[in-house]
Amino acid sequence: MSGKALPPGSTIGILGGGQLGRMLALAAAPLGLKCHIYAPEADSPAFQVSANYTVADYLDEQALAGFAAKVDVVTYEFENVPARTVEILEARVAVRPGSKALAVAQDRIKEKTLARELGAMTADFAAVNSLDDLREAVQRVGAPGILKTTRLGYDGKGQAKVNGAADCEAAWKAIKGEPAIYERFVHFDREVSVIIARDLAGKVAAFDVTENVHRNHILYTSTVPARVAPEVASEAVFVAQRMVEALDYVGVMGVEFFVGADVLYVNEIAPRVHNSGHWTMDGCLVSQFEQHIRAVAGWPLGATARHANVVMTNLLGDEAGVWPGIAMEPEAVLHLYGKAEARPGRKMGHVNRVQPLRQ
Ligand code: AMP
Repeated sequence: MSGKALPPGSTIGILGGGQLGRMLALAAAPLGLKCHIYAPEADSPAFQVSANYTVADYLDEQALAGFAAKVDVVTYEFENVPARTVEILEARVAVRPGSKALAVAQDRIKEKTLARELGAMTADFAAVNSLDDLREAVQRVGAPGILKTTRLGYDGKGQAKVNGAADCEAAWKAIKGEPAIYERFVHFDREVSVIIARDLAGKVAAFDVTENVHRNHILYTSTVPARVAPEVASEAVFVAQRMVEALDYVGVMGVEFFVGADVLYVNEIAPRVHNSGHWTMDGCLVSQFEQHIRAVAGWPLGATARHANVVMTNLLGDEAGVWPGIAMEPEAVLHLYGKAEARPGRKMGHVNRVQPLRQ
């Protein structure tokens, strides 16, 4: 084990208090590691399972300094952490993954450019900073396509479909004239993702490739095994490996792909634990959450072998009301996030339906 491993009793600081922060804190506990959550919302679900927390704005320098003094390492559960927040923290304590990974993941153009530099395919794209740029991009790249804000988009927010030149004005208006990327529409057969981890010593481990289905731009199910050829699965893992290596990454990363005619296109990277990795909680000895905690704490990575086939289904909004039925299913494992209000589309929990692999 690396000499830099944080011993049990150490404290991991986590920026963000949503369900991912909550599941990270739950995974740290069996390793004897404590967590300190930092989030601006007083009712953050992660606070319920963490001994220590701070309620403050991400740009509150005094609160950040106080937080940094109380933790041994800092990580985060969402990629839109302001660069200034990381800068303040990095001056005081290790932040993993570091600012390099965050800068790339926060910008769809940087993300796709890196993927291409590493020899991976992406949808054809062009940077768009004006309506004229968009018209030219549609002509050059081709239609149909999607206009997406370069930064701060998630779950389909900040996106507009462009079927041809006639849609440019409306699309530009729809994303409110923010700096954007225009992407050619990829005709894919399925969407898959790789959840990969890299430790402080540079060792890499990936979980099995997952097949994902979205509903209204929000992840609905993740299934393992994914229905892809073995060569496609190994190529996806290899692309993800090149990504974490190029970014000198420490922690868990999610890489999302489209698969069309056995060709992989990188869509997006997430510098954090990822919704499409929730199946690992009940399908592997070590979950993506424990894996991330191990990596950022300087521990060796755990085993990623899968002991079950799993279908993970997100419970959005009122769907969480079906919990009594799920609680009676013998091979279902329920995970509820402790959120008080079930707004439409809000991730309230998930269920892993597990089919153990027989030896
Ligand atoms: P994103 O926010 O980039 O993850 O996009 C959300 C969803 O929109 C993806 O999971 C796809 O289902 C769809 N999508 C995004 N970009 C493209 C593309 N270039 N071609 C086809 N579908 C896309």
